[in-house]
Amino acid sequence: MKYYAPKGLYDIKPEDIPYWHAVEREVRSTMPLYGYEEIRTPIMEKTEVFARGVGEDTDVVSKEMYTFEDKGGRSMTLRPENTASAVRAYLEHKFYGKEELSKWYYLGPMFRYEAPQKGRSRQFHQYGAEAIGSDDPALDAEMIGLAADLLKSLGLEDVGLTLNSIGCPEDRVKYVDKLVEYLKPEKDRLCDNCRARLDTNPLRILDCKEDSCQEVVEDGPEITEYLCSECQDHFDDVRGYLKQLDLEYDLDPKLVRGLDYYTKTVFEVFSSDLGAQDALVGGGRYDGLVELFGGDPTPAVGFAGGIERLVLLLEELERTDMERSGLDVYLATLDEETKKTGLELVQELREAGLKAEIDYLDKSLQGQLGYADRYGAEITGILGPRELSDNEITLRDMETGDQATVPLNEFRSEVKNHLDSSR
Ligand SMILES: [Zn+2]
Ligand SMILES: [Zn+2]
Repeated sequence: MKYYAPKGLYDIKPEDIPYWHAVEREVRSTMPLYGYEEIRTPIMEKTEVFARGVGEDTDVVSKEMYTFEDKGGRSMTLRPENTASAVRAYLEHKFYGKEELSKWYYLGPMFRYEAPQKGRSRQFHQYGAEAIGSDDPALDAEMIGLAADLLKSLGLEDVGLTLNSIGCPEDRVKYVDKLVEYLKPEKDRLCDNCRARLDTNPLRILDCKEDSCQEVVEDGPEITEYLCSECQDHFDDVRGYLKQLDLEYDLDPKLVRGLDYYTKTVFEVFSSDLGAQDALVGGGRYDGLVELFGGDPTPAVGFAGGIERLVLLLEELERTDMERSGLDVYLATLDEETKKTGLELVQELREAGLKAEIDYLDKSLQGQLGYADRYGAEITGILGPRELSDNEITLRDMETGDQATVPLNEFRSEVKNHLDSSR
C-alpha cells in the first residue's frame, strides 16, 4: 500500500452512507417546515472573512485553520464553520434590501486542523441554520426547538438542552473585568493556555477542558449576574417561549461557546440516548456580526450540528432501519444468448424502480446464486437456454429456496407481486 488518506481525514464508506443520507434527508425535510431555505457558500473564503467573523483570538482562527496562498498570492482558508460565510453572502448580495428576515440552512464539509479522535475529523460535516434580521426572543426559541426537533425526528429519544445568556458586549466587558479579578490570584492553578488567555481572551477559560481550570472556574462569577436590563429581559423572554413550546432546558452559566461572535442567547442540544451527554448541536445569537462585517447593525441567531457524531450515535444505537439495503433482484444467466435477454430484463426492472443486478464476473450458476445471496437479493431470476427457448424464466425465492417457472413476459410483474407480498 502506497497511498493513505491524509492524517485526520477519512473516507465515508458505502456501509455508512445510508446513515448520512438519513441525516441529510431529515435536515432537508425539516428545515423548510420552519421556513429555512438552503444556501451553499464556497468551501473556501478569503482568510479575513474568518479572521474577522470568528475572531482572531479563538482557537479556531489562531490554531485550527487550513490557510494557504493561492496562485494569485491571496490568502485563502478552507471554511472552519459556515456562519461567517453566510454573513458575508448576506451583505454581498444585499439580502437586507430584499428580505425582511433571511432564514437559511446549510449542509456540508468544514475543515479544522484539530487532534483527530473518534467522531472528530479534520474534514467534518455540519448542518446548521441562520436567521438574520430579527432580535425577537421567540426566534431564539424557534431555533432551539428546531435543533431539538431535528434530532427527535431522527429517532433520538433523550434530547436535552443547555441554555445561557452571555449578554451584549458591554455586559461582557463588566463581567470579564470581574472574571479576571477573580482568576488572577488563582493563576497558578490554570493550564498554560488559560494563563495566556487571561490576557488575550479570558472568556475562553470558561470552556477549557482541563479539570484544574474547570475547578477554578466553578466558584467564579457568573455572567448572568452582569446582564443589563435589555439582555435580562431578552433572556427571560426566551425562557418564557421555551416553556410555551414545552422545551425543557438546564441553565449553565458557564456555557459561552468557543466563538467570539455570540451575544445574548447561547445553547447546546445534546442526546443522552447512550447514557452520557453527547453535545450534538451548538448555537446562539450573534447580533454584532453583520455590523462587524461592515453592514448596518442586524440581529441574527443560528446553530450548527456535527454530522459525524450524530452518525456515530445512530450507528451505536443500531438503527437497522438506516442500514444499507441489499438488492431486490438478481438475474442469473448461463450463456451469451441468455445474458443478452437478461440485460434487457434487468433494465426493465431498474426502470420499474427495483434494484437489480446481473453477472459481470463470468460466474457459474452456483457462483451467481452465492453472489445474489451476499448482496441480499430477495429473488433471483434464472434464465438458462432451455427457459429462453420456451420463453420462460425460473424465479427463486432466496429465503425459502422455492422455485417456480413463469412466462418471460410476466417476469417483471411476478417479481413485483412477490416483493410486495414479502414486505
Ligand atoms: Zn446587555
Ligand atoms: Zn485551561
